[in-house]
This record gives sequence, C-alpha cells and structure tokens, in this order.
Amino acid sequence: STQEQGPQICVVGSGPAGFYTTQHLLKHHPRAHVDIYEKQLVPFGLVRFGVAPDHPEVKNVINTFTQTARSDRCAFRGNVVVGRDVAVSELQAAYHAVVLSYGAEDHQALEIPGEELPGVFSARAFVGWYNGLPENRELAPDLSCDTAVILGQGNVALDVARILLTPPGHLEKTDITEAALGVLRQSRVKTVWIVGRRGPLQVAFTIKLPRQRKRLTELLLRTATEKPGAEEAARQASATRTWGLRFFRSPQQVLPSPDGQRVAGIRLAVTRLEGVGEAARAAPTGDTEDLPCGLVLSSVGYKSRPIDPNVPFDPKLGVIPNMEGRVLGVPGLYCSGWVKRGPTGVIATTMTDSFLTGQMLLQDLKAGLLPSGPRPGYAAIEALLSSRGVQPVSFSDWEKLDAEEVSRGKGAGKPREKLLDPQEMLRLLGR
Ligand code: FAD
Repeated sequence: STQEQGPQICVVGSGPAGFYTTQHLLKHHPRAHVDIYEKQLVPFGLVRFGVAPDHPEVKNVINTFTQTARSDRCAFRGNVVVGRDVAVSELQAAYHAVVLSYGAEDHQALEIPGEELPGVFSARAFVGWYNGLPENRELAPDLSCDTAVILGQGNVALDVARILLTPPGHLEKTDITEAALGVLRQSRVKTVWIVGRRGPLQVAFTIKLPRQRKRLTELLLRTATEKPGAEEAARQASATRTWGLRFFRSPQQVLPSPDGQRVAGIRLAVTRLEGVGEAARAAPTGDTEDLPCGLVLSSVGYKSRPIDPNVPFDPKLGVIPNMEGRVLGVPGLYCSGWVKRGPTGVIATTMTDSFLTGQMLLQDLKAGLLPSGPRPGYAAIEALLSSRGVQPVSFSDWEKLDAEEVSRGKGAGKPREKLLDPQEMLRLLGR
C-alpha cells in the first residue's frame, strides 16, 4: 500500500485500562493501529473475573470493549504472557509505543502466623473461584463451618460477604460458575464478620464525595443505634444468616484447630485511632479478642507485580512510577489502570485515567517524541512467538468461546456458563 503506515501501538492487558486506552487512541488518531496482548485466553480482565456475578449491569462495558476489539485497526492477542513469552523490550522494538495496563494480580499477604492454614484464602482467590478464573478453579473452599471472617472492609469484602450470604437460589440465573453454585448450595455458613482495623468513619467502601460519606456515616450510626421497628425486628429474628462489621480490630494470628490441621479462629488485636482525619492510624491497645471461625478470607488489597526486570517498578507503592501515564525515564513506554494508580477505584476511575494516558501518548506522538519511520508491529512479534511455541488467540476465537459459553448457560437460564479449563478452550478452537 502507498498509504503511510500509522503508528503501531501495543497495549499489555485487556481489562478496562487496556480497552479504554485503546478506545481513546483509535478515536483520536485516524490511522493508529493497536494490538492488545493478554495472558488469559479470554479478554476483559476483572470485568469478567472480578465484578460480582449478581452485578450484571456493571459488565455492560463489555459491549463497548467488543466494539473496540472489532475495529479493523485493533487486534486482540490472547494467550500471550508478556514478560515470559515476549519481553517488554521486544515489544518496544516492534512498536512505536507500548502501554502497560496489566492490572494488579497479586494479593497483599497478611503476614501473620497461621496464614498458611487450610481454611484461609485470599479474597482474590475466592473471587477468582466463583468467577471462573482458570487458576482458581480447584480452590474448593470448605463451607461446612458456621462462621466466616473477612479481613478488610473494602468493596471486595462486601462482594465476598454478599456471595457467602445470598441464598444460592438468587444466584442461579447469574454467570457464577456451576461448580461454585454447587459448593454454595451445601454451605453451612450462617454468620459473616467483616473486620477492619479502623473505625466506621474510615471504611474503604467506595465513597467519592464528602456528602456521600456523611450520608453513609449517618446510615451506619442509625442502623447501629436505633431500635428496629416491629416489622424489621421480626425479619431480623427470622433471618437464617447474619453479618456484622467489627471495627478497631487488626488480625494478629490465625488460630489452628486442636489437631493443627485447619483454621479454628482468629486472634484480633484491639486498636484505637491515633491522629485525625484521613491520616488517622490504627494503633494496638494491647487487648486482644479471639473470634472462632472456620473460614478466613483476607481482603486487604490487590497488588501489582513487576512483569519485566527492565521496566521500572516501585515495590513500595506497587505501581510503575509515572507522570500522568508516562513511565519515568523510559520514552515511548506508558501505563494505565491499576498498575499506574494502585489497586483502587472503580471502572469509571480506570476509564478517566486511561483516556489521560492515551492523550499523553498522542501528545508525544504529535511532538515527535516517539520513534519515526515504520515499525513492524505484530509481524515481528508473531515470528518471535511462533519460534517459542506460543499460539496466540484472536478476538474471533474469543467470540467462538463466548458463543459456546452462552449456549452452555441457556439450559439453566444463565447468561453464560464460563469455560474454566484453558486446554478445553484450545480444543474447542481446534488447536
Ligand atoms: P484488570 O481488570 O485486572 O486488567 C488487567 C489485565 O491484564 C487482565 O486481563 C490480566 O489478565 C492481564 N495481564 C496481567 N498480567 C499480564 C501479562 N504479564 N501479560 C499479558 N496480560 C497480562 N469496579 C466497578 O466499577 N464496579 C464493580 O462492581 C467492581 N467490582 C470489582 C470486584 C472485584 C473483586 C475487584 C477486584 C474489582 C472490582 N471493580 C469494580 C474494580 C475494577 O475491576 C477495576 O477498576 C478495573 O478492572 C481495573 O482495570 P485494569 O485494566 O487496570 O486491571
């Protein structure tokens, strides 16, 4: 073709950050081409593997992402682990610019004795299990106990508590995996405690504005202090499952059963606040409380990991050091989403920050700060991957898997029954 080649851009990760960055680039540059690399066989990151099954409306963003992926200037390259199958430096050599949007895949450890006992899970793994994340499909949590303790009071903790407490019948028509539904149907968990180090004024549920925080606080106080009306009291008395928030408690030790084989409780250090406002910190008072339980889910945060030794990484903040998405000290390298900001914020926050990264990249392109001259783009990477025995999957491959999932869900009235086994997925694609 005699037409001048547009900029070849590579995005790593196909969650909201990857897709929103791509959307911005394609919309604001008429000739930009974007390849999205993804380690999973399937796209959409935490929209598929994080967002709770009983919040289907949140997943509508997938429609927009699908439109982006179907553009003839965009290609999805699934089943490619960047940092293992291909180095970031190889991507940098093949493309005019590289955007890292690979999220926050690790969980924050509790770092307390007993954490390794059977019956203790990260909320991340538990969420991955009920949402069909291949690596968590064997989790098989034992829900035969009557009390579960969730450590941490963020949105993820609330999701997990809700899934544990919702009558399974109410989840039957969601995209929760059939295996998880089976385990939840057998669950004997009756009580869920959601434990936090600080107090009701510092809870980490997503509250964007001071006015909303004030309303939440009023609601918490009213619920805690007012006597319920007759109808509500009767409803509470007949409830078979209950939950509660426990404030000013910090996990100190997971307590083993007498035979040492599994968790039997958790020792919490009682804390009090020191300092004021957002900076208030929880300090131990010296008192402790033992809470018997058969299941501990730690929901104290997700964490990004470095994926390539040649990319700067701030281990303390768990982010790639950057200025508005430009990776510090590495021209042509950008980041967006949780790996840029840290693992907080909803999809809308991720959208805003990804558009900003896209804008910075296009500004640099316009200012002549990115390499000039043609770049081979995927042609070069395809050759490398093939020499390494890696077989990428395309977006139309995903559409085949998607159709299969939807058809498997139909009989049960579910939007889809997720495929859990990558080997089976590859077989379905004729690989
Ligand atoms: P991710 O969505 O994690 O995407 C990162 C992608 O990169 C993944 O697909 C991953 O597989 C891929 N990747 C990782 N490493 C590599 C590699 N080495 N090579 C190639 N690809 C790689 N927000 C809401 O608005 N509403 C909700 O209801 C909601 N519920 C949530 C529930 C949970 C349990 C969690 C954890 C989050 C929830 N969020 C919700 C927040 C929302 O999911 C995030 O804001 C958003 O997903 C962050 O986008 P991201 O693209 O940075 O990361």
